[in-house]
Amino acid sequence: MAPKIYITQDPVLEDVLASASSKLADLGWTVVPGPQITPGVPLRLSAEQRRTFLDGVDIIVASSRARISEEDLDASANLRALVFPSIGVDAVDLGACAERELIVANGATAENFLAMSEATVMMMLVLLYQLHRSERILRENQPRPAQMYARMLRGRTIGLIGLGRIGGGVVERLAGWDAKEILVYDPYLPADKAPANVRMVELDELLVGSDIVSLHVPLSDQTRGLIGEKELRAMKPDAIVINTSRGGLIDEEALVRVIQSGHLSGVGLDVTATEPLPADHPLRTLDRVILTPHILGHTVDLYSVMPDVLVGNATRIMRGEQPLYTRNPEVLDAWAKRLESLNG
Ligand code: NAD
Repeated sequence: MAPKIYITQDPVLEDVLASASSKLADLGWTVVPGPQITPGVPLRLSAEQRRTFLDGVDIIVASSRARISEEDLDASANLRALVFPSIGVDAVDLGACAERELIVANGATAENFLAMSEATVMMMLVLLYQLHRSERILRENQPRPAQMYARMLRGRTIGLIGLGRIGGGVVERLAGWDAKEILVYDPYLPADKAPANVRMVELDELLVGSDIVSLHVPLSDQTRGLIGEKELRAMKPDAIVINTSRGGLIDEEALVRVIQSGHLSGVGLDVTATEPLPADHPLRTLDRVILTPHILGHTVDLYSVMPDVLVGNATRIMRGEQPLYTRNPEVLDAWAKRLESLNG
């Protein structure tokens, strides 16, 4: 029987998903397009939609704008895997996938994570040099300020929370920039895996000592609200905060309060708890904040490889091979047994 694949219709990834769907259809697969996601409303399937869309599917393709429930995972006895076009897989509970021996593949390509690393360094520089302010001075014909405000990266302390692919790429990219020190908080990173040019510290020490704090951890029950009012106030008064990971990592109400009180010199957010950010959200009114709509590292380089990576992950899964990029490799042995029983 032809493999059957359910593909979430995410407007952010419209061209990528259309291209992957047509490639899979050309391979003879049955492609089931899901309902259209409304921007700002994470898609949750109703029981009826579940029956309509998921019955008998081998693979679910989801994105961070869909929520995959346990009922979704149980809707098809044939289900082998979930495939995410990009890196973040926080739309599904990995524990629930492990219980069901389901493999989760993603698009953790260099085009994805190194673009995020590059874009993070760009955000550091833009905020240090306050490019947005300089540009506004010219556009609004403001007088040249008497006191300069741009600060060099050289000699500053960079604090990275999470040292996986993206955080690691930031460290590599900062080599040669003469930062005073790079502090890293990542309790899951084995000590012998830390690069020589970083110092592993506890979160408190990182917050107090860094000129720039940048978040590179996945969103999970453990990391939701990781940076709240206490953590923000522990930072230097002129610290810079950057979040390119997931909005839920920072308590946004606390962030607004802390900025309004005069603390922090700059904040760069590519992600917010609700996306798109509501039109009346107070973050939009704060000129020390740079906001981008989850697009900062979305390069043409990334979007050109995404469809083939999605198809590569899916075809490997149907052949019973490890996907190109596996988010939960610890499930591979159990998954192989599941495939044996599915293949009968
Ligand atoms: P990764 O899995 O390679 O690295 C994550 C690191 O975080 C790991 O080293 C892990 O040990 C560490 N970690 C986990 N929990 C932690 C905690 N409580 N405290 C400190 N460290 C912790 O992931 P990655 O590829 O580097 O991506 C990081 C995140 O960036 C993704 O989960 C995704 O949400 C986000 N992302 C955003 C975009 C975007 O377009 N804005 C693009 C890609 C990825």
